[in-house]
Amino acid sequence: MEQAQVKKSQAGFWGNLALWKKILVGMVLGVIAGSILGPDAEVLKPIGTLFINAIKMLIVPLVFCSLVVGVTSMQDTRKMGRIGVKSVAIYLGTTAVAISIGLGLATLLTPGEGLNMAATAAASEAKEAPTLVQTILNLVPKNPISALAAGNILQIIVFALGLGVALNLCGEKAKPAIAVFDSLAEAMYKLTELVMKLAPYGIFGLMAWVAGKYGLDILLPLFKVIAVAYIGSLLHVLVFYSGVIKFVGRLNPIPYIKGLVNPAAVAFTTTSSSGTLPATIKCAREEMGVSKGISSFVLPLGATINMDGTALYQGVAALFVAQAFGIDLAFADYLTIILTATLASIGTAGVPGAGLIMLSLVLTTVGLPMEGLAIIAGIDRILDMARTSVNVCGDLMVSILVGRSENELDTEVYNNTGEVYGRTSEEAA
Ligand code: ASP
Repeated sequence: MEQAQVKKSQAGFWGNLALWKKILVGMVLGVIAGSILGPDAEVLKPIGTLFINAIKMLIVPLVFCSLVVGVTSMQDTRKMGRIGVKSVAIYLGTTAVAISIGLGLATLLTPGEGLNMAATAAASEAKEAPTLVQTILNLVPKNPISALAAGNILQIIVFALGLGVALNLCGEKAKPAIAVFDSLAEAMYKLTELVMKLAPYGIFGLMAWVAGKYGLDILLPLFKVIAVAYIGSLLHVLVFYSGVIKFVGRLNPIPYIKGLVNPAAVAFTTTSSSGTLPATIKCAREEMGVSKGISSFVLPLGATINMDGTALYQGVAALFVAQAFGIDLAFADYLTIILTATLASIGTAGVPGAGLIMLSLVLTTVGLPMEGLAIIAGIDRILDMARTSVNVCGDLMVSILVGRSENELDTEVYNNTGEVYGRTSEEAA
């Protein structure tokens, strides 16, 4: 303890600052640097890319090992099934709410009005939706090694679940293998902690690049649609998620809001919820008190199928396009948008810009012009930052809720989020 204090006092002001504060400093300095340098801020991007690469490096081994450990620590397969069904149901329900918020706000604030665009022939090809049978067949990897190599999270989940269940069934003989996965998973958590120390610098580089690239002249004409998407995102996290935590989870939502700063900042700047996964898992375990078993199952699943921010954005974008082109939508069209966007958001990969591609699906389903995509594409990164943050905050909220309902949430850790926040796991212990 004394040694830790000596180390602390030697670390200086920056060294003693909690991680989330460093991240915020990195963001602000990044915006300032980007505004001063303009497009030249691109030279700072490699710092961000280095951070993204480092965090991506963690995803496959972290998800795989922690999921196997999650299953072997659970033993009870009925419980696993229950947790799966519960998570998917909450994921879908919250997504439908997100898109309704998007549609409601876009109807109220009319971001596309006055743009008077005229549609010509379809400009780009719409993405085809995969069939249900195809989707189900694709869940099972023919070759788990190539699923791991390709980083196909859903296939990795299926294989890890199968392996975990098999290890449980083997009994005594499987103990050494379980111990290996256990210690590898611990090492991956440790590596995540080390990589997260790079976050403030990586985030600085990424913010500088974005701020330098999108000057005010690009953003101003589309200011309204950006504002609507951001207001919707804030409402969804601060009002809806907090409300669910309070009224369904019967927990104080403040620790949740305090705790989500790190993963949300990583999501905001990397625009990839899969890429943010290591930070999300670390936060759920250390800051929110969600058990290893729940967090290692619910979060990778969420990062692949739960995209509330993307759904909200699709609602806003679809109405924006309709308004910009002066097309009236009927009530049935709204329902179609809700349904397609919910399904499209499940199919959206947690990578930068994926939501824009899925938007083509929503636009074609309700017969809106594809040129709308082109307008949105110009500012998609800015919108992606908001929607990815919401995606990640949603995953975190569901892990808390499921943890709470299964008695696998340490409320003491959860309620102390503000105090232990930013410390390393050793210091917090
Ligand atoms: N970038 C988003 C994510 O990773 C997906 C999207 O483009 O909507 O969550």
